[in-house]
Amino acid sequence: MAHWQSILKQAINSPADLPERLQPTMPDPTKVTAIYPMRINSYYLSLIKDKGDPLWLQAVPQAQELHDQVCVADPLAEEDLSPVANLVHKYPDRVLFLVTSQCAMYCRFCTRKRKVGTANMVITDRSIQEGLDYIRHHPQIKDVLISGGDPLLLSDERLDWLLASLRAIPSVEIIRIGSRVPCTLPMRVTVKLCRILKKYHPLYINTHFNHPGEITPEAALACKRLADAGIPLGCQTVLLKGVNDDAQTMATLLRKLLTIRVKPYYLFQGDLTRGTNHFRTTIETGQAIMAQLIGHTSGMAVPTYAVDGPDGAGKIPLTPNYIQSLGKQLCFTNYQGRTCFYDNGG
Ligand SMILES: *Cc1c(COP(=O)(O)O)cnc(C)c1O
Ligand code: SF4
Repeated sequence: MAHWQSILKQAINSPADLPERLQPTMPDPTKVTAIYPMRINSYYLSLIKDKGDPLWLQAVPQAQELHDQVCVADPLAEEDLSPVANLVHKYPDRVLFLVTSQCAMYCRFCTRKRKVGTANMVITDRSIQEGLDYIRHHPQIKDVLISGGDPLLLSDERLDWLLASLRAIPSVEIIRIGSRVPCTLPMRVTVKLCRILKKYHPLYINTHFNHPGEITPEAALACKRLADAGIPLGCQTVLLKGVNDDAQTMATLLRKLLTIRVKPYYLFQGDLTRGTNHFRTTIETGQAIMAQLIGHTSGMAVPTYAVDGPDGAGKIPLTPNYIQSLGKQLCFTNYQGRTCFYDNGG
């Protein structure tokens, strides 16, 4: 068994096994974990400093998960948009292909909380074959996003086989992997894994960091190995109350990501996923954070702030509004709040 597999095997699945000082604040946390599983591995646990801190909030079950009166199980209508199980075809030229139900940690804010790590998510050899067949028979699909769960939890052999199968489909141009492993279990990113991945270019990885405290030497090494294998790295951060909903924390996170060779791609407004309402901020909060980033920090560090629209509407950018009026002239506000003009011609 590889080192990362033994770390995963020993992960804590029951709140009672957490150190006393990091225990959940509710009386009977197994009420939560009976519905939404918990998994905290020793690596991520070692990064949590105190009860209630931004990493604790992401990992440890809370009573609010059970008392969410606002959100719904499947806000993005992924199940309705699945022509075959575990494959979401929402946009014309790309699909989301779910290949495992397992993650290195079960994040409390997960958008697929209804199923990841539970018996509700059934992925079999057959469902994967059906997904591959669907992609093969729909040549308009140019971009396949492999997700889950966390695809990098598959064994080396299984990933090698899956990527080879996708690459054998001539209409597939790019392959993307969505993985939180560089953040939650960076030792999974072995030299051997990178040797496998680099056979399947053009391959992109979008990872997922939410707080500067997650950017460690181990995470930096994982990202270096992936980047050295020629894989462009993006990050899909989620805006989370109490974790990263202030401009200072967000700016530090985004700048640190660039230093480990990860380009911030999206900053997501929280989805309306049942059990996660306590993590949501308002869109005004997100836009105020963006206004403090744009122009004030490297453009390389600035992600697209977006909301994934309910019922499969797709991702809508929520860039703060700089335009005051647009006609023969563009009248706009610059990043410092100064009013400026641009001759629009015509
Ligand atoms: C987010 C998403 C994509 C990819 O969207 P991009 O804007 O291209 O990153 C594709 N399919 C589904 C179902 C998605 O949710
Ligand atoms: S790693 Fe991703 S898919 Fe897995 S629980 Fe966390 S947010 Fe959800």
